[in-house]
Amino acid sequence: MSFESLGLSESLLKAIAKQQYPNPFPIQEQAIPAILSGKDIQGIAQTGSGKTASFVLPILEFFQRKKATRSLHLKVLILVPTRELALQISEVISSFSESLPIKVKNLAVFGGVPLNQQMTKLRDTEILVATPGRLLDLISTQSLNLTKIEMLVLDEADKMLDLGFQEEMSYIFRLLPKKRQNILFSATLDTKLEVIKENLLCEPIKIEI
Ligand code: AMP
Repeated sequence: MSFESLGLSESLLKAIAKQQYPNPFPIQEQAIPAILSGKDIQGIAQTGSGKTASFVLPILEFFQRKKATRSLHLKVLILVPTRELALQISEVISSFSESLPIKVKNLAVFGGVPLNQQMTKLRDTEILVATPGRLLDLISTQSLNLTKIEMLVLDEADKMLDLGFQEEMSYIFRLLPKKRQNILFSATLDTKLEVIKENLLCEPIKIEI
């Protein structure tokens, strides 16, 4: 299968070619058209499978389809367990975005750095990659508003639960608008995930590679 058959527009295909990805990985073949369909997704995928691009590419595709005159507010929230993963995802978003005609500002936020440093960077951010604790810190300073989120991605959701983020996650979910697309990725089918799946996903497309 080729990237051309997945429903991505010309500008995204060019950005993929620049990264020298010859063909989609299996997770990308399945997840990209599924996410573009607008449905909720439940994916089981390991690190190294190419799962980052499998959600980053359709997210950037949605932005390319929107009018350039769109309002600049937070639309996509990607929740992750660690600072390393937040930075890694943010870098992938930035490198694909570089050559795209419609620019999208993304930001990674995580603990261990002064809060006000991140607060000032939030302005005009449309895609936020965050660890749950730091996201709540930012919400408590009222520098962040989740009321216009259109898409929620949970990456390595099983690890977020293992690290004890359950309460923070539930709190964050309650602040999100009801109408949104949800994407959940985990490495395992842990029973602890059941509660989250039940609360979060609506008739998800299941992807397992
Ligand atoms: P990930 O599982 O998202 O951390 O990706 C693992 C590695 O695979 C990263 O170094 C990506 O740059 C690379 N990668 C992702 N998709 C492709 C692809 N379709 N072709 C070649 N490399 C890829």
